[in-house]
Amino acid sequence: MTTTSQRRAIVIGAGMGGMATAARLRSQGFEVIVLEQASHAGGKLRSYERDGFVFDLGPSLFTIPAVYRDLFLKTGGALEEAVDLQLLEPAFTYHFPDSSTVVMPGVGIHACATALGDSLGSDVAKEWKRFMSRAADMWSLTRQSVLHSPISGFRDMLGALKSPRDIAVIAPWLTLRQLSRRMFLDNRLIMLVDRYATYTGSDPRKAPAVLATVPYVEQEFGAFHIRGGITQLAVALEKRCRERGVEFRFNTDVSRIRVTDNHVTGVELSDGSALDADVVISNADAQHVYESLLSDNVGRIGRKRVRRATKSLSGFVLLLALKGRTPGLNHHNVWFPADYDDEFDSIFAKAPRPVPDPTIYVCAPDDDRMRPHDDSESWFVLINAPRHGDGADGTFDWSNPEMCEKYANRILDLLAARGTDVRDRVLWMEWRSPADLETATRAPGGAIYGTSSNGTNAAFLRAANRSEVRGLYLVGGSSHPGGGLPLVGMSAEIVADLVKQDFPRR
Ligand SMILES: Cc1cc2nc3c(=O)[nH]c(=O)nc-3n(C[C@H](O)[C@H](O)[C@H](O)COP(=O)(O)OP(=O)(O)OC[C@H]3O[C@@H](n4cnc5c(N)ncnc54)[C@H](O)[C@@H]3O)c2cc1C
Repeated sequence: MTTTSQRRAIVIGAGMGGMATAARLRSQGFEVIVLEQASHAGGKLRSYERDGFVFDLGPSLFTIPAVYRDLFLKTGGALEEAVDLQLLEPAFTYHFPDSSTVVMPGVGIHACATALGDSLGSDVAKEWKRFMSRAADMWSLTRQSVLHSPISGFRDMLGALKSPRDIAVIAPWLTLRQLSRRMFLDNRLIMLVDRYATYTGSDPRKAPAVLATVPYVEQEFGAFHIRGGITQLAVALEKRCRERGVEFRFNTDVSRIRVTDNHVTGVELSDGSALDADVVISNADAQHVYESLLSDNVGRIGRKRVRRATKSLSGFVLLLALKGRTPGLNHHNVWFPADYDDEFDSIFAKAPRPVPDPTIYVCAPDDDRMRPHDDSESWFVLINAPRHGDGADGTFDWSNPEMCEKYANRILDLLAARGTDVRDRVLWMEWRSPADLETATRAPGGAIYGTSSNGTNAAFLRAANRSEVRGLYLVGGSSHPGGGLPLVGMSAEIVADLVKQDFPRR
């Protein structure tokens, strides 16, 4: 129930960042309305079901559950009561181009180092522990001061690093690849770490060394699945929001954010109607906000930053309904290519192309709620890909279905060549291109994480959570601190805190 003195917050977009902020603001006493152009909540976190085969179309790996534990606890009850959280044990199987493989435990740096050492040689275990110890130091330096704070410039970051030792640990001048090269003799470890740059949509040769924290948090706090699919997290959060009294309006397209004298006043919808608000939180991609939802004369600094940033990579997805079970298959499976650099060259080139011999990632949950019967498998296959567009500005035109179909079949041929041939077990296959991701979620070009972490100043080019327009905030993967479920949850916490500071209870 709302009262006349209650302030109104409008949230544009029912992605995880939008819903997490909505739940928190409702707890702070705001009337909250979530406007979502799609017919459902979740944004990139959504699922697809056909003939009893269920697929997560977005996130397939859930890490740092503490972020969502905090959200659920502060908005009404424990996360574990809302979803069936499952620690994966083991979590990943990595297949290297020299045919060596590593089966990685779901949690524990020591256990992961041992697994690497047992498969690749004892020196590797030592190297991995040393790398993880550096990553742990990076994590303790950045967790509170950067990831949980609304940094908006280089000075904020420098303020967080208090001593020359802190700066040496973070080594802002080093890329992730350079750090790996300094710490590993074995190329397979370099490959393994390179892949974590793609968790932020980036190129390891350009992304900062501090992304070493990504494998650290996965191994320190665990790799999780949610029974029924990670999308159950979005289902639970929508339910939580409704229980708190958040109002959702689906099929509702925001066409303009209204601003008067640099103060937000509400939004306009594509049907011509308008809604007033004291606060507007945009969960839409920052590029969409600055290029389409705000008029040219407002938000100049934010627009300039977003324009300067390299955009995140996108993904080409295969959904495979398979009969029978695949021996030796893990929940997460990765096949690295012989030439990993070619993947990044192909994606981040001026004139990009689908990667000819890409890393193949298969998520095959052993989850009875995601397959029609025990003698079947639902495979989500993700291939890193350039963003969709007309070919200009580092994009590739993914709108040709014949080309996509051919590319999908090529992936199956490549897998077969690596010893995992499922072609005669495919009941049906569907694919989703970066163009489809753009249509479904309004992420420009189907960029998965908004802007990438490419470049030493990437963190400062990512959209700030508090915009220059009073009362307008940005939340979600394209704003600080970045993409992926944990960071998106952190961005919601930052935004809710900023709103609390800027609009104290009357
Ligand atoms: C293929 C894929 C794999 C991924 N894998 C992982 C993974 O394994 N682990 C992980 O943690 N993360 C992963 N991610 C990233 C993760 O999904 C995202 O970072 C996160 O879900 C983004 O949430 P968000 O809050 O930014 O909102 P989004 O999900 O981007 O939602 C934004 C919402 O705003 C709506 N919207 C936009 N414009 C308007 C408008 N004008 N009017 C009304 N509504 C609008 C959109 O329809 C959408 O629902 C993956 C993503 C993809 C696509």
